[in-house]
Amino acid sequence: MANPTQPNVGFTPERESAAPEKNPIPPPPNFVPSPPGFPPTKLPSQQDQSSSRSVKTPNVLSPANGVTTGSSVPHLSIPPGPPVFTSPVRPASVPFRTSPASPQPVAFSSVSSLPTSTASSPLQFSNGSFELQHQVYDSIDDNVPVGESSFVLFSARKVLKQKKQANVPSLGFGALVSPGREVSMGPQVIQRDPHRCQSCGAYANIYCNILLGSGQWQCVICRKLNGSDGEYIAHSKEDLRRFLELSSTMFDYAQNENKRPGFVPVSDSRMSAPIVLVIDECLDEPHLHHLQSSLHAFVDSLPPTTRLGIVLYGRTVSVYDLSEESMASADVLPGEKSPSQESLKALIYGTGIYLSPMHASLAVAHSIFSSLRAYKLNIPEASRDRCLGTAVEVALAIIQGPSADLSRGVVKRSGGNSRIIVCAGGPNTYGPGSVPHSFSHPNYPYREKTAIKWMENLGREAHRHNTIIDVLCAGTCPVRVPILHPLAKASGGVFVLHDDFGEAFGVNLQRASARSAGSHGLLELRTSDNIVITQVIGPGEESHVDTHETFKNDTALYIQMLSVEETQSFSLSMETEGDIKSDFVFFQFAIQYSNVYQADVSRVITVRLPTVDSISAYLESVQDEVASVLIAKRTLLRAINHSDAIDMRTTIDERIKDIALKFGSQLPKSKLHSFPKELALLPELLFHLRRGPLLGSIIGHEDERSVLRNLFLNASFDLSLRMVAPRCLMHREGGTFEELPAYDLAMQSDAAVVLDHGTDVFIWLVVMALTSAIKLFMLATVANSSLRLVARWLVKGVTTGNPYLGKGNGAELAADEGRSAAALAACRTLAEELTECRFPAPRILAFKEGSSQARYFVSRLIPAHKDPPYEQEARFPQLRSLTSEQRTKLKASFVHFDDPSFCEWMRSLKVVPPQPS
Ligand SMILES: [Zn+2]
Repeated sequence: MANPTQPNVGFTPERESAAPEKNPIPPPPNFVPSPPGFPPTKLPSQQDQSSSRSVKTPNVLSPANGVTTGSSVPHLSIPPGPPVFTSPVRPASVPFRTSPASPQPVAFSSVSSLPTSTASSPLQFSNGSFELQHQVYDSIDDNVPVGESSFVLFSARKVLKQKKQANVPSLGFGALVSPGREVSMGPQVIQRDPHRCQSCGAYANIYCNILLGSGQWQCVICRKLNGSDGEYIAHSKEDLRRFLELSSTMFDYAQNENKRPGFVPVSDSRMSAPIVLVIDECLDEPHLHHLQSSLHAFVDSLPPTTRLGIVLYGRTVSVYDLSEESMASADVLPGEKSPSQESLKALIYGTGIYLSPMHASLAVAHSIFSSLRAYKLNIPEASRDRCLGTAVEVALAIIQGPSADLSRGVVKRSGGNSRIIVCAGGPNTYGPGSVPHSFSHPNYPYREKTAIKWMENLGREAHRHNTIIDVLCAGTCPVRVPILHPLAKASGGVFVLHDDFGEAFGVNLQRASARSAGSHGLLELRTSDNIVITQVIGPGEESHVDTHETFKNDTALYIQMLSVEETQSFSLSMETEGDIKSDFVFFQFAIQYSNVYQADVSRVITVRLPTVDSISAYLESVQDEVASVLIAKRTLLRAINHSDAIDMRTTIDERIKDIALKFGSQLPKSKLHSFPKELALLPELLFHLRRGPLLGSIIGHEDERSVLRNLFLNASFDLSLRMVAPRCLMHREGGTFEELPAYDLAMQSDAAVVLDHGTDVFIWLVVMALTSAIKLFMLATVANSSLRLVARWLVKGVTTGNPYLGKGNGAELAADEGRSAAALAACRTLAEELTECRFPAPRILAFKEGSSQARYFVSRLIPAHKDPPYEQEARFPQLRSLTSEQRTKLKASFVHFDDPSFCEWMRSLKVVPPQPS
């Protein structure tokens, strides 16, 4: 990252001569030559198919972001091209483009040297290979589902053969790859070395043609014939099914060098990857109080074998000694400069214990947290001395321990990544990487630049030592996001802002620590030779791996992953290089990582997509949700600051017009184009994107938008989709929920609605008369089960006639309140279930109709109240179930404002909106 202020990752692979135009940012500094080994993936898995609307049961809801929502049948859609559509061909450029002048690594031989895709090449290899085309047989299974993998979602399930038709950048084609995801059924592990194509390095897979007599297999990527040392010699196709790699589209190879036990699920295998909390000690009383509660709950949540360290920082750095039974005692280092080698040695070789498993140190951890005191001096929050940078350096030193100086240059292998979790309530204002308290300081711009660089280097240093740094900020004091963000980003960690140190913060503390920690992730991408990857966005950087000695024609794109986690994904944009003649194209994704059990794993996923001539067949195969997420990522990549974001709204408009022009039909006697009906959902999703927190005006502070943007660019499909377009669920009698379009028409009397917008979940409730208990409750920010208990208590209180709740009101009112409380409790439970696996955990807010906060809610919905009734009903059919009285009431409840409705917006672009699907 040459430019640390650019929050994200995105680069255009150099293998293709793609668009050398804008933002030629110099290539990233050399990466650490760490061996490919990567982190494991996390869990996931359950998938449910719930994305359809108007589903009525709550069970259908997909859990959180980590989990797939879209379906077992991935919806594919196509990522759009560059925002400017004048030049139809090349996709947008991105930061981190490798400069064209840099020497081309050998491994990436230029496209022209790729073998042609015709069948001619196998002929030069020996025996009988010409039979290949005929008698031997196709791949083992022709019925393998297309692109069915929760790891890879394509924007379309078919590929257009004609290059000109295929490369329409406004729609685009691409895929979202989630390397950190686990297999739903548990990994199918192959305990031996994989068979790989000697020419290009691709892996043998289910789609390979195999010569039964000789055991030779034909590579799907370059079509060369390879030997299998006789392993694949078989009497029949069926015989070959015993090879996992020939019977499944996804499998893992585990390599147990060093005789490590491969996948033994030993619970203490994480012992080698400690967590160090780095805590701001300059907090005022209320913040401190919240933080203490969160910290106590945090340590209680840790497995007994987790090793924990505790570091506090203010003007100095305090490293807590966990050897004391129940007393809080700490070694103190000065904060104004980086710790000297001597002082670190004295610390590390001293008698104190700074990392200790929870089973031995739980009590002392609690007493340390209890002993924390509020900031005493009379200095404003933003001006207090905080040596955050020095504190992180000390934390890193503790993690490396005594062996650090012995093994300089040697990358130590440990099980997964260590973590540093910074709990910050203000900016870094003291010591290395700090900035002056005030923006008006004459030297501020220079100090800021230096600080950003310093923080980024520290993040990289942490990454080199397999340590991820998460920065969790809270409170109202500005933390100077541009400076702290590079620290988290360069290490592979996340940066999250919270309103306070309360519930959501506490949940994120726990989820940050519980994320799976693999390490050394390397993603290899291979495609049929007529498909090129033109852009990659995600938490990694292009890596130059020289495999030339082994595979002379390796044209794979390699991406070094900063971390391997379930909640991340890479979005790939692709184009075709020429007309495609074959019936299928192939994509192979290989992820190498070291899992938490210290085994080296190679996970291989192969996808085959059919090619088509028909545009409508192609459009039918587009997965609107995936396509819009890919479009959104490409768009957000360029929305670096506020004014960019405004410009990007315009590119969305252009995109819609261009898609209608290229794929829609022109109305007779009119200049209007109708948007292709096959993509009915797409424009609505993009309309949400345009108005929502990522590009719209909802977010008040640019720092906050920038944090969301960075999160979004790396986020998994599920979280990304929710950040683009909210999901709206209306509470029904009996505790079920109905999924509705996210229109303001959902704000009906008697309704309780949950709106999941990814990083925020809102609960909107109409309540006739509220007791103060419910009012208080509704104002609370909730994210944990203790509050769920409160909700249950409220319900119980009502049904059992709790005098407080019913106070002063008639029985009828009490019954209303009972229903409201029950609805609220059900909504909260749903909100928690929806976001159970999400990281970062969202803020959950509840408010009632007419409250000043209700604008948070309404601004995220598509305004449709001004639309004519027939249009409202077409897009929001649930309206038909309302009585005329209810509809009148609904109509009367809207305050007029000027935002165009979806249909008005489409028409303003001279495009006829598609009928809802
Ligand atoms: Zn090959």
